[in-house]
Amino acid sequence: MFANYGYKDGSGEFFISVDTGRCAGCPDKGCVEACPEQVLEVITDDYDDQVIAVREEHRKKIKYSCAPCKPTGGTKEIPCVAACRLGGLRHSW
Ligand code: SF4
Ligand code: SF4
Repeated sequence: MFANYGYKDGSGEFFISVDTGRCAGCPDKGCVEACPEQVLEVITDDYDDQVIAVREEHRKKIKYSCAPCKPTGGTKEIPCVAACRLGGLRHSW
C-alpha cells in the first residue's frame, strides 16, 4: 500500500510516496537517519507495522523542507532515496 504525504499548488505536485509494505519488512529504516532535515519518522500503522511517514509539520511545506536535497541542475543523489535499499520511497518532483 502506498501512503502519500504532501500537497499540490500552482507550482506543481509535491508528494513523498511510501510503500508501507516494503517499510514493514525493512530492518534498519535507514532513510530516517539519512535525512538531514528530520522530515521522516517511524510510526506504527493501522496494521501494527513499523513504517515511515513524513512528520506532520513538514507535510504542507515539503517542497521547502526537501529543497536542500533537490538538484538545481544536473543530477544529485537524494539522501533518503539513496539510503533505501528496498525501493520504498518515491518523490513526485
Ligand atoms: S523507505 Fe526504504 S529505508 Fe525507509 S523504512 Fe521504507 S524500505 Fe526502509
Ligand atoms: S529529500 Fe532530503 S529532506 Fe527530503 S525527506 Fe529526503 S533526505 Fe529528507
